Amino acid sequence: MTKDYYKTLGVDKSASQEDLKKAFRKLAHQYHPDKKGGDEAKFKEVNEAYQVLSDEKKRANYDRFGSADGPTGGGFGGGQNYGGFQGGFQGDFDFGNINDIFSEFFGDNRGFNGGGEAKPRGRDLSTEIKITFEESVFGVKKRIAVNKMATCNTCQGSGAKAGTALKQCPTCGGRGKIQEMRNSMFGSFASVRQCPTCHGVGKIPEEKCTHCKGSGVHKKEVEFEISVPAGINNDETLRLSGGGEAVAHGIAGDLYIKISVTPHSTFKRVGNDLVMDIQIKLSDALLGAEYNIKTLDGTIALKIPEGVTHGEILRIRGKGVPTRNGRGDMLVTVKIVMPKKLSKSAKHVVEELKKEGL
Ligand SMILES: [Zn+2]
Ligand SMILES: [Zn+2]
Repeated sequence: MTKDYYKTLGVDKSASQEDLKKAFRKLAHQYHPDKKGGDEAKFKEVNEAYQVLSDEKKRANYDRFGSADGPTGGGFGGGQNYGGFQGGFQGDFDFGNINDIFSEFFGDNRGFNGGGEAKPRGRDLSTEIKITFEESVFGVKKRIAVNKMATCNTCQGSGAKAGTALKQCPTCGGRGKIQEMRNSMFGSFASVRQCPTCHGVGKIPEEKCTHCKGSGVHKKEVEFEISVPAGINNDETLRLSGGGEAVAHGIAGDLYIKISVTPHSTFKRVGNDLVMDIQIKLSDALLGAEYNIKTLDGTIALKIPEGVTHGEILRIRGKGVPTRNGRGDMLVTVKIVMPKKLSKSAKHVVEELKKEGL
């Protein structure tokens, strides 16, 4: 993804949240599709840019990786396994959010999608998975099972028994909407809402699907394969759009997956670098040496330079956490182990050093 969100909003990289908001409001007014001369495509672009840059965390990711979701961009990547799921905000345009923004502008609640009845949306779900340190660094595919309301496989969500005809809905007479009188402090008024029997379809099946009893959804265990992107941090959350509970004739909610990374026994992660300590002998510090150390890529020989000091950090380039622009480094802090006791001859050698002023 190479979209330049700053350019889209016409601001520079150092823009404050206030600058962003101003720029967004101006452009959103200009391109709003309900307005004469509006431009829906541009409007969506502007909205997408603002959704990312107005969120500090997404903005930081975007500045670092060129994507709001972190190193690999799509969150869940592409791939056929994901069916209708799309990673993050990129694919699914959030009308709910935009309507909030516009009620702020226009002082009313009119939707961007006109007067249509909003589709019901299933509940969001959340779960947690544990991954190893190595998996967090290199990325991993994981299968997770979630027990949730899902679309009925037997009737594909229609609620009809296979082969049955549809008949007119008796509740709404086929209109899909019902009108009811409501009372308010200004008197009574007619209000129109979606028919609860046919969910706005206007027709209901002659015979109900026996599997889901006509509801089109039922509780079951659903398995997902998720791609955890390389470089993910402990406690970061992935969103699987549509992975939440399905709802009859509506849109499924989202599934939030919290990533718990098991700490490594040797390394710690600091940004994109891996840090560790190495203990070396005093003689090796004075004369230089080679030590074998374990990295995420296997064992490598680390050269200890002659005269290294306690606390010095040796950098091994490219052995850290992968990012979009290559990998971070491995930083090895030298710890010189002082001998507890010197032999007679060793003492003699040190006294020689002392004579030399060392
Ligand atoms: Zn069914
Ligand atoms: Zn109806």
